[in-house]
Amino acid sequence: MTSLRTNLAELQSRRTDLIVALGLAEAGTEVDASWISGTFIHIARLWPLVLLGKLCITALLHVPFYQQGNIGHALALSAMLLVDGIAIVAPRGARFQRLRPHHQKWLMLPMVLLSGLTFSLMLGPSLIAGALSRNLAAELAVALMAVSIFGDRRLLGVSYFLGLLTASLLHGADFAQVGLLISCIAVLMVAALRQAAHDMHRAVAFYQRDLRAQRSDRLLHEHERSGRGWFWETDRHGCIAYISDTLARTLDLRGETLIGRPFTEIVRPGDRQEGDGERTLGFHLSARTGFADIAVRAAMAKDERWWSISGQPVFNDFGQFHGFRGSGTDLTEMRRSQAEVNRLAQYDSLTGLANRVQMMRSLEQAVAGMNGQPRDCTLMMLDLDRFKTVNDTLGHPAGDALLRQVSQRIQRVVGDRGLVGRQGGDEFKILLPGRTDRIMLDHLARAIITDVAQPYSIEDTAVVIGVSIGISFCPQDGVTAEALIRNADLALYAAKGDGRGVYRFYSPEMHADAEDRRQLEEDLRKALVENGLHLVYQPVVSSKTEQITGYEALLRWDHPARGAISPAIFVPIAEDSGLIGPIGDWVLRTACHDAAQWGEGVRVAVNVSPIQFANPGLPSTVMNALASAGLAPERLELEITESVFLNDDDGTDSMFARLKALGVRLALDDFGTGYSSLGYLKKAPFDKIKIDQSFVRGAAIRGSRNSAIIKAIVSLAEALGMDTTAEGAETQDELALIRQLGCSHIQGYVYGRPLPAPDVLVQQHGQQGAILPQGFQSSRPERKTMLRTVAVHHEGHVYTGRIRNISATGAQLEGLWNVPEGTLFAIELGDNQTVNAVARWSREDRMGVEFTQSVDLAGLRAAPRAMAS
Ligand code: C2E
Ligand code: MG
Ligand code: MG
Repeated sequence: MTSLRTNLAELQSRRTDLIVALGLAEAGTEVDASWISGTFIHIARLWPLVLLGKLCITALLHVPFYQQGNIGHALALSAMLLVDGIAIVAPRGARFQRLRPHHQKWLMLPMVLLSGLTFSLMLGPSLIAGALSRNLAAELAVALMAVSIFGDRRLLGVSYFLGLLTASLLHGADFAQVGLLISCIAVLMVAALRQAAHDMHRAVAFYQRDLRAQRSDRLLHEHERSGRGWFWETDRHGCIAYISDTLARTLDLRGETLIGRPFTEIVRPGDRQEGDGERTLGFHLSARTGFADIAVRAAMAKDERWWSISGQPVFNDFGQFHGFRGSGTDLTEMRRSQAEVNRLAQYDSLTGLANRVQMMRSLEQAVAGMNGQPRDCTLMMLDLDRFKTVNDTLGHPAGDALLRQVSQRIQRVVGDRGLVGRQGGDEFKILLPGRTDRIMLDHLARAIITDVAQPYSIEDTAVVIGVSIGISFCPQDGVTAEALIRNADLALYAAKGDGRGVYRFYSPEMHADAEDRRQLEEDLRKALVENGLHLVYQPVVSSKTEQITGYEALLRWDHPARGAISPAIFVPIAEDSGLIGPIGDWVLRTACHDAAQWGEGVRVAVNVSPIQFANPGLPSTVMNALASAGLAPERLELEITESVFLNDDDGTDSMFARLKALGVRLALDDFGTGYSSLGYLKKAPFDKIKIDQSFVRGAAIRGSRNSAIIKAIVSLAEALGMDTTAEGAETQDELALIRQLGCSHIQGYVYGRPLPAPDVLVQQHGQQGAILPQGFQSSRPERKTMLRTVAVHHEGHVYTGRIRNISATGAQLEGLWNVPEGTLFAIELGDNQTVNAVARWSREDRMGVEFTQSVDLAGLRAAPRAMAS
């Protein structure tokens, strides 16, 4: 915009320069002279010298100015005075100056010819006296003087000569004079031709310049008319000499009414906004310095109107100040939209909640106290659970609709207690100013979790998601916005780690946890380089033949200081840090290499992380591992979890196809724990479903529904032609049940824990591939399934809970939401029995408690409130 303005201002100034240069001054524009008419004025000024020279020479040659009876002489003198007089006076006349340059020239040409002619006629009588050479010398002297005045105007010079010679010839031509005349005519022709060519070029250039000027003119008018900009000019007193009509119209005035008024009158005085535009403008105008883009407010406008003004002082050739010339644009609309943009910049366009920027600003304001003392406030960071699944399966518009509904629910729960904002994606923030009671926060967090977890109807589909919350306080957990956010984030991370759908308050140990994680990541990187990782293999046994059909390769890390670390801890770290790539490659190579030593037909199963699965290079890694170990592809089974379907796209389908094309087997690991959509079972070419341990464990306990689920999974797998492996079978009871339910394979401690590679070889050779189950018959103490309402005492409060599945050492309790692990209670079981208990796990409103002393189950059975189910 600024450059456009500058260009137009430049154009405007060029336009004026052009007008000046051509001597085509417009009315009202001050113009001193043009270079064309300037030439003739120059001649007119100096021509008296020529005339004087002529008269002196005439006198020196004793030519009588007046001889009685010589009328011709007198006439020649008069003609000479007349012609030279015209040459002196005519160019000074205004009419002459208004003529076009070439017209001026063609008028002057005969004049100079006549001037030469009359001079020659004047000298005529002295020729009769026989002083031809003197005469010629005199003529040449004057001619030289004339030519030096004509300068480069060859045509004029040669015309003068011609005039002189023509007259001289009349007095008596001799050979020299005729020769001179002929050469003069030749020179005249050549000069005339060259002059004509020169004039033509000049005319073309002039025409082009004229065209350019017209175009500039049109552009300027167009620009002015479009209202995008306007031009102004002041005289040396700061009064308006020119102003675009469009500007005058915006002020409901006519352009002429503004002419002659001080320029500063159209700008509102004393307005101190926007860098004090009016004062700045005044300063530049009086200091006669250029300025650009000064924002000022229009003084004469009825409604608020803003302009941006630029200008440059104008000086003439003698350095005298002539006024200012410049341009301006209307800022009003821009300022209005700026205000709108500012408003939009504070709110999230999807949900209408405060956006990240406004939340940050509000948090900074909430934290900053009066005297450098931080103020009380609470920050809650929320992250939706399973939102990505909805977004990926139902599409982004559905995701957006869900986010809108979630934000309304959160807003409804929080009410005017605090400010709710959307951080971006599926993250929200709540800022509660002032001191907030911890119990109130508990209630609020629970209410949000409960409300958000209620089903949504999105595009006629029922959708259920959850939310995890991290909470930090000012000043306890941090006195700056950044510290509060970081700590609430850590608490959120902890909430997610604790199974999602829960809230956690920040505690300093969380920092330690984060630091711990970072340290582990560093150590893991080192372990990978220094061969600190190794694989163990857990047998997978055929339920019919009790033969070992394969082994699952499980990664182990013996930390030099911390000892063995579970893959459940370090694999997620490897996934987050990108280390899973090289680690996964190593696992594949090592497992294939080890399996190549095993008996024919014994398979190896390798776990593949979703991150590895998303890498298009996986098939070639698998192929290389198989090739370098010399292992047949059908002996390698890749275990993939349901989470790969979270990014269900064309890439997932083609990865399945490419892996399958290699000839390897594919197993769906931990089935039933995650996404569990049956749709993908149809299209993904799995050879096996691994039923998660959570279904297997406890399936043998009476009343457990797990066996029904296992049975359903087995029939589904059979229908689809897939094998099944029941994971985590620990007891003989579970084994028997699994066999009875029809699982084709079993993997669990009942057949042995994972073994180091050398032990696998021993195991295979020792028992010819068969294996016998070991271990307990049943894994748990006697359990009663019952529904009983109990009173739970905690820190002086009494809550109501329901008991299910009670044993002598513990119970499953319902009705208390998200109880932190390790919380101590006293539970009133019945009229006579109160028992102390510790929360061992908690998921939403269910928790497992361990009694600190044994409970008499028989006594409970007799209790009147018992409702056995
Ligand atoms: P997973 O693939 O489901 O592996 C089975 C886990 O169950 C193994 O735990 C195994 O030791 C354990 N398990 C087997 N039978 C029983 C049983 O009867 N009772 C009990 N309580 N547990 C049993 P592990 O080795 O701790 O591995 C945990 C998870 O770590 C694995 O679950 C897998 O998801 C992951 N993981 C292990 N190795 C690798 C690997 O090389 N790459 C990747 N990406 N993940 C791995
Ligand atoms: Mg596995
Ligand atoms: Mg598994």
